[in-house]
Amino acid sequence: MTTIALVAHDQKKDALVAWAKAHEAVLTGHTLFATGTTGGRLQTETDLAVTPVKSGPLGGDAQLGAMIAEGKLPVLVFFIDPLSAMPHDVDVKSLIRLAILYDTLLAVNEETATAVMKSLSVA
Ligand code: PGA
Repeated sequence: MTTIALVAHDQKKDALVAWAKAHEAVLTGHTLFATGTTGGRLQTETDLAVTPVKSGPLGGDAQLGAMIAEGKLPVLVFFIDPLSAMPHDVDVKSLIRLAILYDTLLAVNEETATAVMKSLSVA
């Protein structure tokens, strides 16, 4: 069992919820965190047990970055919207930077996230 954080920008939330449903059998065996709004959607639309942190723009990305820095978050699935400007772009950059720095298993699109699920299901 590992700890996984799930995050999706607004235009990617539908895709993340659909992806999480498709991979529910694997995800359910792990400890799940999510940013606030993403987590709320996952709680209402899936059977997954998700612990929400604050909403991304209100500090949730920073909270997940802190978890990475503390060695508490080895896997991050972050469906990034590459077509929209974000008021909290600095937080997004910080989270990605820390994920790279601490060699976190990081998926920023659906195909990669699916590959990560396959690697976790055979681990
Ligand atoms: P949210 O945050 O799930 O609270 O919308 C995601 C984000 O980082 O934009």
